[in-house]
Amino acid sequence: MPVHPSRTLAVTAHVNASIVPAVLDVIGQRWSLAIIQALLLEDKSFGQLLQVLDIPRSTLAARLKHLQAMRCLQPSAAGYGLSGAGQSLLAITSLAREWDRAVLPLSKAPELFHQCGQRLQPVLVCSHCGQAIHVRDIRLAAPGEPPQLGDLPKPVRRSRAEFSADCPLTATEILADRWTAMIVALAFYGVQRYSDLLRHLHIAPNILADRLLRLCAGGVLLRDGPVYRLSERGLQLFPLIVALMAWGDRWLRVASQSQTSLRHQPCGHLLEPELRCACCAGRVDLQGIRLAEVPSQSGNKG
Ligand SMILES: [Zn+2]
Ligand SMILES: [Zn+2]
Repeated sequence: MPVHPSRTLAVTAHVNASIVPAVLDVIGQRWSLAIIQALLLEDKSFGQLLQVLDIPRSTLAARLKHLQAMRCLQPSAAGYGLSGAGQSLLAITSLAREWDRAVLPLSKAPELFHQCGQRLQPVLVCSHCGQAIHVRDIRLAAPGEPPQLGDLPKPVRRSRAEFSADCPLTATEILADRWTAMIVALAFYGVQRYSDLLRHLHIAPNILADRLLRLCAGGVLLRDGPVYRLSERGLQLFPLIVALMAWGDRWLRVASQSQTSLRHQPCGHLLEPELRCACCAGRVDLQGIRLAEVPSQSGNKG
């Protein structure tokens, strides 16, 4: 496909219309995805969450309050449960987790199993043709409108201290730092030059340099002079970004707005992503997954 002469303009329009920053305001804090993950299959009380997540009490309280204000959680008999919007974060949490497996092979969190009996290996596919979504197959079709977010509360500001250089660079870590996540998202739009990133992000040069270093060290970006390209591993984040956009378009935008559309070249349809199981190709939803049986350590069978 020839490069369109107005490509730069089109990219700017897409960046301006991107719902990604709004999604990051909702879920892009350390612990937010872990809380969602912990509540996916069953409601839990504050005490249970404290125990499962091993998180400071005040942090848990703050994150729960934020997720509730953002309408991802709702009160339940047990304490906290996921709302409809919270439940449909399954695609994001499971894709993030799958990407993390390469750097965190021995994650402590219990595994999810699909109804086919295999460990859940989630794949984001085009719902029209069923093919897995790769960035090389996607074209920008039409930019949406800059998002209007209904009556969501203002996001809380995150401190810089939340971005820790000591942890391995996981997808959760990337999403937990707004700048890092935005650099990755922009790279998929073809914004890969240092000067272009600076212009689109309105970011201090030292912060941009710091995040680029971290992304290069984490193997997500490859530096080629002033250009930062996505590595093979970086390219594998694309389905996660698509899942973020789909979630934001569905749950954050006011309904009357036009959304950013992407075209799936192999089948020609506008992209409507859907989460499937890599083993049986069946759809993945909350009803069809379960936690692995964790062998009991105590042997205490009531
Ligand atoms: Zn398709
Ligand atoms: Zn399956």
